[in-house]
Amino acid sequence: MDRRKFILSAGLGLLAASSPVSISAIGSATRRLSGKPGRLNLSYMPYELKLKHSFNLAKSSRTTTPDVQVEIEYDGLVGYGEASMPPYLGESVDSVCAFLSKVDLSRFSDPFRLEEILEYVDSIAEGNRAAKASVDIALHDLLGKIMGQPWYKIWGLSPEKSPNTSFTIGIDTEDVVRQKMEEAKPYKVIKVKMGLDNDKELVRVIRSMTDVPICVDANQGWSDKNYALEMIEWLSERNCLFVEQPMPKEMLEETAWLRERSRLPIIADEVFQRLPDIPKLSQYYDGINIKLMKSTGMHEAYKMIVLARALGMKVMIGCMTETSCAVSAAAQLAPLVDWADLDGNLLISNDRFDGVKIVDGRVTVPADRPGIGVKLL
Ligand SMILES: [Mg+2]
Repeated sequence: MDRRKFILSAGLGLLAASSPVSISAIGSATRRLSGKPGRLNLSYMPYELKLKHSFNLAKSSRTTTPDVQVEIEYDGLVGYGEASMPPYLGESVDSVCAFLSKVDLSRFSDPFRLEEILEYVDSIAEGNRAAKASVDIALHDLLGKIMGQPWYKIWGLSPEKSPNTSFTIGIDTEDVVRQKMEEAKPYKVIKVKMGLDNDKELVRVIRSMTDVPICVDANQGWSDKNYALEMIEWLSERNCLFVEQPMPKEMLEETAWLRERSRLPIIADEVFQRLPDIPKLSQYYDGINIKLMKSTGMHEAYKMIVLARALGMKVMIGCMTETSCAVSAAAQLAPLVDWADLDGNLLISNDRFDGVKIVDGRVTVPADRPGIGVKLL
């Protein structure tokens, strides 16, 4: 989609979302005479993600995910960003559009003032983490394009250090699980969503088909600590790597009790949001699951990794159901983490971008494509 069509779509999105669409000056996206100060133009459009399979979790099920696609234009270059809003996080197309309508990037003439720009974006309103992430990702993409380099290179990372990425199997019937296992064949790690009565059955079906390591995500599904411990012991005998959010996020003391006894690392997901949460969580959890839609984007995600490492924690990078835009952005950080769970783009049927690929079990960003590494399809 070229820029004119994008703006047109944004206009249609305006009708759909009953929210203002253009931030700063959507109509002024024309090339300037060289030598004049630049101007950052932000625009966006609602874009509903269609899921290939209905996505079943311990507490919900759905076939679509609301999403907003974002562009920041500067001097003829366009950076892409995205906000994905799984319903349980409390953001919506309307809330994201309302937030973006307040962002005035025209006050900044230098896009390299990342710290200053993102501090301003964060200060506009509390929460709105996916909306903030969409601006952060688009800005990173733009800066990488201006510099002509992908972010893993700008950060000085070695792409071969990226861990294997996992393919997610949701809670489902045995037949569907078997079918999904076919799709999972290129992967060297399987992630299993748990938290219902048939948890062990799900693992037995998978183990009848493959021996690859399993990561378990209980999505707060086990509220009895003794049951959680029993499950973890059973899983630890079946080549499981870790358990993500075994207990409800409020049950910190019970989680600490579980962690003391658990043979598998306990990773924080739903309980974990922003950078300042990490020191406290290090008392209860072994590691954190960073997602750009929670961290407000790549800038804070990088800081989270540094802080978690300093506190001796494990780090995982995950995603929501997203297009290859946000997944490719997250994959730029993958060489820094222990585990990657970056398959969100593969769960949707209407991706707008070409970006990350699975190569030999790892998420791999195009080596020389600048910014976050995506091209519009
Ligand atoms: Mg999780």
